[in-house]
Amino acid sequence: MEQAAYDVVIVGGGAAGLSAALVLGRARRRVAVVDSGEPRNAPAAHMQGFLSRDGMSPAALLEVGRAEVAGYGVHLVEGRVEQVERDGSGFAVRLVGGPALEARRVLVATGLRDELPDLPGLRERWGKDLLHCPYCHGHEVADRPLGVLGTGPGSVHHALLLRQWSDDVVFFPHTLEVSESDRARILARGVRIVDGPVKRLVVEDDRLRGVELADGRVVEREAVFAFPRMVPRDGMLEGLGCARNEDGWPVTDATGRTSVPGLWAVGNAADPRAQVITAAGQGSAAAIALNHDLLEEEVERAVSAVG
Ligand SMILES: Cc1cc2nc3c(=O)[nH]c(=O)nc-3n(C[C@H](O)[C@H](O)[C@H](O)COP(=O)(O)OP(=O)(O)OC[C@H]3O[C@@H](n4cnc5c(N)ncnc54)[C@H](O)[C@@H]3O)c2cc1C
Repeated sequence: MEQAAYDVVIVGGGAAGLSAALVLGRARRRVAVVDSGEPRNAPAAHMQGFLSRDGMSPAALLEVGRAEVAGYGVHLVEGRVEQVERDGSGFAVRLVGGPALEARRVLVATGLRDELPDLPGLRERWGKDLLHCPYCHGHEVADRPLGVLGTGPGSVHHALLLRQWSDDVVFFPHTLEVSESDRARILARGVRIVDGPVKRLVVEDDRLRGVELADGRVVEREAVFAFPRMVPRDGMLEGLGCARNEDGWPVTDATGRTSVPGLWAVGNAADPRAQVITAAGQGSAAAIALNHDLLEEEVERAVSAVG
């Protein structure tokens, strides 16, 4: 594959992928961004914590980003990548029902999938008044009656943390077993505990009203926080043999370089903790590393041609 159509194909056009595209486009690289249009924070009306963009809508940020990268000649492709395959020293990036794009390098910036417990009301209220990140949403629900739903070991910390935003926080362990020492810590922090399995979120007039337990009790709440199970959206990498850590996330270096030569992964696809601004920063750092990697190859090729 002497002359692939693209220097870099970026899979995923969220904050991470578009930031990488901006830097690579400005470096005069041939770049395509393939995006299926489902950014993780789409259910939220506002994006918080991005310096100079605090409160902007997630959709508006991406619209501005797409216009910026298009201005540097980056190709924006609407579609879903189903498979990334080795093709000589580069890759073939296969789109569902579409062509395969040839790429010298691939950057995966596909984000992650949030898997919520299967309880009525959770999926519908996600990003509205069922929330997970206090740094993203805590300020907006400060001083209101809040709940924390037990979904895993991290939920105890979640309850302790939430107390910082409201003095009316109820922890619902649901089916989670909570040790006596954790109970003591939660109570000492001023958080109430309501035991028993949760049946559903009570929603009226498009607003969360409370949490209903299996025994029929309803505890009035205006917002509930719950940690989802986070899963990288990287099924297209199956077959490339990318090394993963014990939790199933691609192993990368500080620039997003994976164990597969020529393959990078950044943003929530590799780091579940990345906020929008962090994901954007990771995309930018990966772009510079990718450009250096391409440069090395070009210099080697030029030296061989001369010699
Ligand atoms: C409800 C909610 C609210 C949030 N609020 C905030 C907030 O206020 N502030 C904040 O900093 N963070 C917030 N976050 C976190 C934020 O969503 C992430 O930090 C951010 O989206 C990560 O960016 P990313 O580019 O890695 O992934 P994403 O933004 O998820 O972008 C990934 C893109 O890849 C595309 N894609 C996926 N698979 C494929 C494929 N196979 N082929 C082609 N394209 C594909 C997707 O369609 C998507 O457009 C929130 C998260 C949630 C769930």
